[in-house]
Amino acid sequence: MSSAGCSTLICGELSCLKVDLRGTRHLLTSQHSLPGIPVALKQSIDLRTSMDGKYKEIAEELFSRSLAESEMRSAPYEFPEDSPIEQLEEKRHRLERQISQDVKFEPDILLRAKQEFMKTDSATDLEYMKEQSQIPDLQEREPVPEREYQRVTISGEEKCGVPFTDLLDAAKCVVKALFIRQKYMGLSLQSFCRTTARYLQELSERPLDLDIYEEEIPETTVTANATVHPPVSETHPYENVDPTSMPPDMGYGCKMVDGVMHLYTTRNTMDKTTELDLPYPDLQEYIADMNVMMALIINGPVKSFCYRRLQYLSSKFQMHILLNEMKELAAQKKVPHRDFYNIRKVDTHIHASSCMNQKHLLRFIKRAMKKYPKEIVHVERGRGQTLMEVFESMHLTAFDLSVDTLDMHADRNTFHRFDKFNAKYNPIGESILREIFIKTDNYIEGKYFGHIIKEVMADLEESKYQNVELRLSIYGRSRNEWDKLARWAVKHQVYSDNVRWLVQVPRLFDVYHTKKQLCNFQEMLENIFMPLFEVTVDPSSHPELHLFLQHVVGFDSVDDESKPEQHIFNLDSPLPVNWTEEDNPPYSYYLYYMYANMTVLNHLRRLRGFHTLVLRPHCGEAGPIHHLVSGFMLTENISHGLLLRKAPVLQYLYYLAQVGIAMSPLSNNSLFLSYHRNPLPEYLSRGLMVSLSTDDPLQFHFTKEPLMEEYSIAAQVWKLSSCDMCELARNSVLMSGFSHKAKRYWLGPNYIKEGQEGNDIRRTNVPDIRVAYRYETMCEELNLITQAIHTDELETIREEGSLCMGAVQVEK
Ligand SMILES: [Zn+2]
Repeated sequence: MSSAGCSTLICGELSCLKVDLRGTRHLLTSQHSLPGIPVALKQSIDLRTSMDGKYKEIAEELFSRSLAESEMRSAPYEFPEDSPIEQLEEKRHRLERQISQDVKFEPDILLRAKQEFMKTDSATDLEYMKEQSQIPDLQEREPVPEREYQRVTISGEEKCGVPFTDLLDAAKCVVKALFIRQKYMGLSLQSFCRTTARYLQELSERPLDLDIYEEEIPETTVTANATVHPPVSETHPYENVDPTSMPPDMGYGCKMVDGVMHLYTTRNTMDKTTELDLPYPDLQEYIADMNVMMALIINGPVKSFCYRRLQYLSSKFQMHILLNEMKELAAQKKVPHRDFYNIRKVDTHIHASSCMNQKHLLRFIKRAMKKYPKEIVHVERGRGQTLMEVFESMHLTAFDLSVDTLDMHADRNTFHRFDKFNAKYNPIGESILREIFIKTDNYIEGKYFGHIIKEVMADLEESKYQNVELRLSIYGRSRNEWDKLARWAVKHQVYSDNVRWLVQVPRLFDVYHTKKQLCNFQEMLENIFMPLFEVTVDPSSHPELHLFLQHVVGFDSVDDESKPEQHIFNLDSPLPVNWTEEDNPPYSYYLYYMYANMTVLNHLRRLRGFHTLVLRPHCGEAGPIHHLVSGFMLTENISHGLLLRKAPVLQYLYYLAQVGIAMSPLSNNSLFLSYHRNPLPEYLSRGLMVSLSTDDPLQFHFTKEPLMEEYSIAAQVWKLSSCDMCELARNSVLMSGFSHKAKRYWLGPNYIKEGQEGNDIRRTNVPDIRVAYRYETMCEELNLITQAIHTDELETIREEGSLCMGAVQVEK
């Protein structure tokens, strides 16, 4: 159609975008994530608000303010808060907990607890479950799930405490923002919360069609009584590197145009008629959407509405705990065998280069010095250096080394000093040791690093219930980085069922540009994405990468977010090919182009039946607020999200869309925010989809099980209940990139269903009461918002009707 000969490119892109969106109703399934939900194209409802026509000005004002933010006392997206109120609340909270603790245990629970205590705590779940299945009576799940608990309800006309006009304006804004996220998630085949989608669907023209979800999810044979462990594959996934056994070459060609990859059905990319109709996001539309979002988050009435809803959610949760704590506890005690230790947890944010603890790294270095003293590990000015020589040049022996000399732990000097923290990545302050021991691409081809990672993997496998999503780096400096990385993984057989990879791309264009390694930003994008397109078109062209990519779940974007940004991303920003200046592109620019290319790649991968990838950047750890806006629009989930505590509108949106947030309070404590001010307990109480992660155990943790250390400290400092901890663990599995099949084993065969139907307490140890509370509470919020819009619609129709009648009467 118009996509070929069209004079304006944007117009062509738009038309193919629409065509494909309609075509994506029956999606193939991504192996790692819930399928993206098709976008409801036409909204019949009126979402005009008082800000219409002014988005651009408001957004630009906010952008430019964010450049000079440090001088301001409170930012325009914040809600002014007085500390005495906080203190009062804290006091009330404590009192409530005390009262609820005084409630006496029910006798039958005591008995249960005793039996629990007598039972031997075996680690052999498998056998236990087998035994259990031989006793059918015990195994039968209660036919009626727990629906009885103390519910908090609010009655009255104006339930939300604001006038209807305010509610309506806020509701329209919130719905508008949710539609924006849904659109970008659908376009890129990332997942969108089902419950929210259902409510949004009611507002759009298209009838509710839930079947599409069921079709998209492949049937697996996980029954209600299956074990909690997925079957283990007999063969190593990297055993067979034979290119002839790989899927055939599609013969497509690819070329990057204006920073986004385009696909052609022949290798000749000059012939525009052969261009493939894959959806690309439209830059103009994206900028417009971003401006809408920026304007929403500082709108006074909307801000105040969202702030009130969040306060209400906190209070409601306190009330829920006050009334149901004992019931939740009882439900957990009734479950045989399961406890916090043997439920599945995923460390959703951890960097591979610092995933071992200091003691582990130290032991490994000492062992390497004993085992391979004569091995050439490094080339200095054309001369090979052995490991022994490297240490001699530093005047060190194996005996001298200690955790203190290693000096890799973050301490009080790293707080608000990301530069000092970065320097801690070097053992003994020597970058050469980092090069030798914790890099995949060095003279020994990452041999030592591979060994350490495999040791970490072995520990995880032994712990059985702990899983990690490790970040490995691709810098975008050269075209062969992916091949080198994949060769490292395949050669050293670095694989574990407990581990999935995320690829982190550091935002370091300015550094490489200054070093003359890159001329423009598009080169960086090509280096990152071209190999991925090539291997998807023809797996045998990069056989190792094809194997390695099967365990990569998505992309991360990393760097110090508090670094000042010199640019505002708008339509005047140079295209990637013209970005030749010294300055680094802003965060949202990086994210947009990663998103755009990932979107095209995902559609190509879906054509091939390969799994699709997701975006999971570091976002909102520090820096300007628009990072979190980009995150909300473009990414499946984020890491950190600390700044949401200051932006009520965004926080409420992250809640309603259930955007996953991997939080690392120990890491924050060393770098950006002290532990007692961390917003995690507040987010959790409000029902945001938060999980606990370690970030960098090498720098922040002391024990052999850093993830347990993270949970343990959180539980003690914030007085989390066992139920809270299990909920956090369940969230971590839900938001992780592990396969749908694994999640069915870990959480229950119906985990995808909404509400308590999706919960299996025998696997998650989360009481149905808690899951039901979360679900019902969210439905109430969504209902409040959608009902306001519906009511308004009805009234408009009635008004129009009467006007019409009036007109007719006049005519008579
Ligand atoms: Zn991190």
